[in-house]
Amino acid sequence: MEIRISLRLTHLVALTLLLSLFPILTNDLPAAFACKKPPASPISLTSWARTGGPAIKLTVAPTGELPTHFLWATSLYNKINKKWEPWSAWKKFTISKNRKNLIYQSKLTSKYSQISFVSYAGNTCGRSGTIQLRVPLKSSSQLTLLPPQIASSLPLSLSSISLNYFDPDYLGIPILVTSQTPSICTTDLTKNVLSLLAPGSCKIRLSENSKLVSTPNPDISFQFNILENPVVLPETTQDRTDDIQGFQIHVVYVTVRDAPSNDFYNSGDINNWVALAQEWLYEQIGKRLIFDTFQGSLDVSTLKSNYLTSDLSHGNGATEIIDGEEVADSLPKLANEFNQANGGGKVGKNLFFIVDANLDPRYCGWGKMPGALALGYLGEGRCWQGSSSYLGVGLKINYMSDTIIHELLHNFGVAHVCIDQSDIMIGNSCPDSLVRKGAVTIDTTHTRYVGGSLSGANILSLKVWSDGTGERHIPLPDVCYMGELCIFPTKYWSTNAQLLDLQESVGGNWITLATFTAYKDPNPPGAYPYTYDVKLMPTSIGVHTYRYRLQPTAAWNEYLDTPFVITVPY
Ligand SMILES: [Zn+2]
Repeated sequence: MEIRISLRLTHLVALTLLLSLFPILTNDLPAAFACKKPPASPISLTSWARTGGPAIKLTVAPTGELPTHFLWATSLYNKINKKWEPWSAWKKFTISKNRKNLIYQSKLTSKYSQISFVSYAGNTCGRSGTIQLRVPLKSSSQLTLLPPQIASSLPLSLSSISLNYFDPDYLGIPILVTSQTPSICTTDLTKNVLSLLAPGSCKIRLSENSKLVSTPNPDISFQFNILENPVVLPETTQDRTDDIQGFQIHVVYVTVRDAPSNDFYNSGDINNWVALAQEWLYEQIGKRLIFDTFQGSLDVSTLKSNYLTSDLSHGNGATEIIDGEEVADSLPKLANEFNQANGGGKVGKNLFFIVDANLDPRYCGWGKMPGALALGYLGEGRCWQGSSSYLGVGLKINYMSDTIIHELLHNFGVAHVCIDQSDIMIGNSCPDSLVRKGAVTIDTTHTRYVGGSLSGANILSLKVWSDGTGERHIPLPDVCYMGELCIFPTKYWSTNAQLLDLQESVGGNWITLATFTAYKDPNPPGAYPYTYDVKLMPTSIGVHTYRYRLQPTAAWNEYLDTPFVITVPY
């Protein structure tokens, strides 16, 4: 007897063996009777009282020939040696008018964690098929239902969820899942799934009371949101006309020469990942980011990169330091390719590349901090493992949506946060002991980056949200914004004797915009201590060429510094 199958499965098998020759079982069982066939397998119900272990009740099947007896045996799982004890001898239970149900009450011990119970029914014509069930040797309080630890938003394209995911503790007893919104989602017991039928709120009830088990534990309700199928625009290499002016995040789907495409754009996965990232942010902080859209739908460009995976991988060729980590120069490489396909760079737009290749098995993405470039990729089956990854079991967010948010927050100037095990900004610069665990959170202290800026930036102060809030745009080198004080490059000089003019090249002439006085920096980065606080409000959108001019004095000549360019995108 080595075959051990689950309670649910066993029962289904037993039901298929039923023969309905005797359609109704009367209350008066004859003490002896002539039979033509063996009886059907007994029916079992495992129940828990408030205290004590499971009680297994066998009753006569409602159809088929009547049995004269049940035979049953048990085995216990020894959790100390991690093995099943030998089966007990078969025990016989004779069925009579006054003894129709066998009740086996198990005992709880510290040594055993499960009981396997096997039984069959018999009469003078033979015996039924065997039923076997395996239940935990736990009290009902140890079987209390918990809410499923899955994402609170899921895409309609997921189409079904295995019912096993609604038993987060693997309690080992069948849990009855019932939909309370059957037009949105419905259970399919033959496939053991919850089918997703339509967008909306799917409400389900989980119960430990069914034909197979009964506990005194209360049912629990659980609900999640099913997102409608995204509109996937026709594939293009171009950035389409923008719906809005100003800051936005443009998504680029990248395939490389040496990795097969998973076609994540046409499958709708990219749109889903972005939509689910937005839903998660909205649930956590009540805000959504501004993504580039065309006629209301996510505007994604595709880029068939000429690079190989290794060209874009960590540690290959020139590297750059991002958030204290050395990563490949993949971001400027991809940005250059994208810009070439689009007739120049797009200052003021953040580019988020989703690369269909495993760039580095240790990460799922990286981003400049602060910056306008970031990427995510699939990892080695770590960051994405197909549609079941949408469930985000434990984390309550799928890892691709998680990566999109994490890397964009780096772009906004947020560093890794190593203070708990759930923060979305935990990164590999945190200690190894800080392993991601439990539902992902976003700065629960409201001091690090949501409401405070201890970790580099307060994302609520940035103008990156679809509700129009925020005071300033992402601070980027060589970029300034209308209505925000522009901080010009800081340079150091040997003397404070000269005034500094900020000049702009206008129609071939250098026009002085403002004049500044030097001050001494108490902690200069080099040998020269004098510097100027050059700040000015931009007066027009566009690409501006500036230079610094040091005014002549009796002792010093005029000095014209190298011109530099600052773009004001909006
Ligand atoms: Zn990071």
